[in-house]
Amino acid sequence: MRIDILTVVPELLESPLNHSIVGRAIKKGLVEIFVHNIRKYGIGPRKTVDDYCYGGDAGMVMMVEPVYRMIEELRSEREYDEMIYMSPDGETLNQGIANELSLKGNIMILCGHYKGVDHRIREHLVTREISVGDYVLSGGEIPAAVLADAIVRLLPGALTDETSALSDSFQDDLLSPPIYTRPVEFNGWKVPDVLLSGNPKLIREWQDSQAIERTKLLRPGLLLKKN
Ligand code: SAH
Repeated sequence: MRIDILTVVPELLESPLNHSIVGRAIKKGLVEIFVHNIRKYGIGPRKTVDDYCYGGDAGMVMMVEPVYRMIEELRSEREYDEMIYMSPDGETLNQGIANELSLKGNIMILCGHYKGVDHRIREHLVTREISVGDYVLSGGEIPAAVLADAIVRLLPGALTDETSALSDSFQDDLLSPPIYTRPVEFNGWKVPDVLLSGNPKLIREWQDSQAIERTKLLRPGLLLKKN
């Protein structure tokens, strides 16, 4: 899989993509992630990428030409399955969208900045718009890192057995059961006996019932989705 991220602040993406599971997936060759600085196609000697908003609203808008040229450079080299714009008014990211995107070959992710990108890019080039939640961040870089992380950890081989994605919350529309590690007792706080029973069937039943109980309590809407 290949992910190309387009931004005017590439520095914001350096750390989140280079460590832990995503960093290891890159090293293992499961995914290639390239961060492109749209400023490469900035206008004039100062490589300007933003301009005032028509209509007189406060705030700057990312100009159409630098973004267009950056996208065209990449599209001239390969085909993309999706051209995603991170945007608070897009569809809200969930595990289903991450699962779906993890099956794609090449995806491009455009990060907005300032007030966002000139709407013509969204009308003519973007195929999908994704939000990380109903709140507004300063730029699409952190949302793009969230999306890339959610996708990459699903690629076969990205997770070791110990961190299997299958038991994660949302994977089957249930929240994950509680988890514990050594010691058995700390401060008088004990690990549930059943987990120490050595009986895989009992443990599985306990985990399943806990997952259902926690989902009922914390996210009842997910159970409705299952039926
Ligand atoms: N004027 C825009 C917000 C601009 S915030 C509006 O009202 O919708 C600047 C950029 O940050 C956006 O273009 C988008 O790329 C990114 N961004 C901000 N909040 C986001 C969110 N919740 N999900 C995804 N991207 C977001």
